[in-house]
Amino acid sequence: MNIESPLEVNGRIYQIPKTTAIAICLDGCEPAYLDAAIADGLMPTLKRMRAIGTDRLAHSVIPSFTNPNNLSIATGRPPNVHGICGNFLFDPDTGEEVMMNDVRFLRAPTIFSNFYNAGAKVAIITAKDKLRALLGAELKFDDDRAKCFSAEKSDNSTLTEHGQEKASAWLGMAQPEVYSAELSEFVFAAGVKLLAEWKPDVMYLTTTDYVQHKFAPDDAEAKSFYEMFDRYLAQLDEMGAAIVVTADHGMKPKHLEDGSPAVIYVQDLMDEWLGEGAARVILPITDPYVVHHGALGSFATAYLPDDADHNDIITKLLTIEGITHAMTREEAVDEFELPGDRIGEIVMVSGENICIGTSEDRHDLAALKEPLRSHGGVTEQTVPFIVNRALDLPSKPELRNFDAFFYAVTAAAM
Ligand SMILES: [Zn+2]
Repeated sequence: MNIESPLEVNGRIYQIPKTTAIAICLDGCEPAYLDAAIADGLMPTLKRMRAIGTDRLAHSVIPSFTNPNNLSIATGRPPNVHGICGNFLFDPDTGEEVMMNDVRFLRAPTIFSNFYNAGAKVAIITAKDKLRALLGAELKFDDDRAKCFSAEKSDNSTLTEHGQEKASAWLGMAQPEVYSAELSEFVFAAGVKLLAEWKPDVMYLTTTDYVQHKFAPDDAEAKSFYEMFDRYLAQLDEMGAAIVVTADHGMKPKHLEDGSPAVIYVQDLMDEWLGEGAARVILPITDPYVVHHGALGSFATAYLPDDADHNDIITKLLTIEGITHAMTREEAVDEFELPGDRIGEIVMVSGENICIGTSEDRHDLAALKEPLRSHGGVTEQTVPFIVNRALDLPSKPELRNFDAFFYAVTAAAM
């Protein structure tokens, strides 16, 4: 380890790790998944970590979506600091919806780039490629001190752009299908190989929630996913790394008894209240990978016409069964720590078993093969926070999933 003094990143002080500090983000890991797999004896390593290490629950950021939470974990701060509050934003001046995957949208440096710049070796492995550029912001790959690649594009990774030539061949594992459990397994397997052979100082492993969108905690497919994870976790633990296991968000069933999605179509409501197309409802969960959620989650924001009475709309929204929160932009900035310039005038959240859509005719629900499970709201905010070292930590709501590296590094410095 070449770092000589603790690092300040976005106003927090990170100690000097004596062993590898690892944060693992299990995408969509509702705490019940771990409880169910442990109850069946499928996760002996995690069970032991809970017993002799630290076992807490933490809160994710809202919206409880993948990108905002991954960037919070990467920066140690909420979205009002790093700017990533969804998969895309709406530009009211141009009327365009813009993907927020690009590094130019990131407003804060990552913990990874700070450690790299201080002389450390840094590894980031992500299941989906959509996160890679943001997580790898400002890293350089010309001195063998940084690696940042995805399982999804592991056939095409290069030494100059990702720090690893053809990662699939290097790992000896075929590039997995994007909708598969193997996409996440690739991440764990690569993490084990990197820890054994390359010995990073800081490593981030982040998976995909394909399994969690499809299967409930008691389903055999979910249990075997966590059993698989535990085998890799055991290897990381055995090699002496300090490990924090957390999640970007939970996952809840959001369907009716007949299996069809439970949806409040808010664009249709706004059209009724304000006139056709006068308001613009944005679902920031929308991304190119809609197969498993049909772009339906529990968080939405809306841009309203200039003459709209915001409080009247909020009052109307709160009378809709299933809407748990409706608030002004200013209240959302305050309560959810969101960047005010990247959300609409109104923010709304739906309950545990119901999601928010735009217009009924704009969602391709035929792509949904299983009863909908999704996330985005306050009811998917509670996530595991488990450390393989005994630390004195608060529990939710004080503890946040984006404290993962702070405590991984603290544990690695002990
Ligand atoms: Zn996610």
